[in-house]
Amino acid sequence: MNEKDFSALRQKRRQEQEERRKQTRFLLLCSLAVVLIAAVVGMGVSHLLPQEKELAVSGEQVETIPVPQPEPKSEIPAATEENDLLKLAVEAQGTEEKVCYLTFDDGPSRTVTPAILDALKEQDVKATFFVLGRMLEGNGDIAKRAYEEGHLLAGHSYSHQYKELYASGESFMAEVEKTNEMIYSITGEAPFRLFRFPGGSHNAGSYAAQKQEYKQLLKKNGYYFADWNCLNGDAEGDGKRPAPQLLETIKKTAYGKNIVVLMHDATAKKATAEALPSIITYLKEQGYVFKRLDEVRYWGGENKKPEPDLAL
Ligand SMILES: [Zn+2]
Repeated sequence: MNEKDFSALRQKRRQEQEERRKQTRFLLLCSLAVVLIAAVVGMGVSHLLPQEKELAVSGEQVETIPVPQPEPKSEIPAATEENDLLKLAVEAQGTEEKVCYLTFDDGPSRTVTPAILDALKEQDVKATFFVLGRMLEGNGDIAKRAYEEGHLLAGHSYSHQYKELYASGESFMAEVEKTNEMIYSITGEAPFRLFRFPGGSHNAGSYAAQKQEYKQLLKKNGYYFADWNCLNGDAEGDGKRPAPQLLETIKKTAYGKNIVVLMHDATAKKATAEALPSIITYLKEQGYVFKRLDEVRYWGGENKKPEPDLAL
């Protein structure tokens, strides 16, 4: 091989080496590009949950999570948790309604209760009757009529004799249970466990200390109790106020969004039956709707201060 041939061969080898380097650089660049693309795609889905990643890769839309809605209107707390029903009624949240709970104590009587039932029927209003066990004896048919016409029957003791009733926890609960069983036997339906203390439950006057103790007994036995924050005054003074005066007392005491009205349907309370149509008309004009005490609904939101206690 002469000098010229050798030079040509070296030139050819250099060109071949240069060609191989170019091919290697190209392959390296291609590999890098593939790695970069894979990394970008991977980052795009890496923040999604496994299930969503699958959906995103398959091209489907990721489902949005629904926003939680406020809790719906609920039942009142169980009596074993909180058994002051007037307090619960006053604190009831979540409605703009003005609610009136009419209540009649000490019946049923043959002289007054039927006229009260007629007036309630006439104006399509439901009420709560706090009956006495001893009055149910002989007047069970009237209590049954009240029940059948959509009113609530609840207990107000058997005897209404403070000395016997409040003598001990045993005597107290015995009267509560006995009256409830009498209601059950008349209606055939397990009664709403609700009691009204004769004389009210407030911590003042005679038997105040015992009553506070008995509230806890009621709670333990799953009973609510309910006082009142409005009244017609039919038990005030000599208990013989005429009908127009009863309406006036309602006008003075019916304020606030939720009112529990104390009235009586005992034998002598004819003025109460007489005043009732005008009392209901007045309360309707004030914007109240009428409910039974087992219809108290509780929002469970922030509590309001109870209205002033008008117990006498
Ligand atoms: Zn009473």
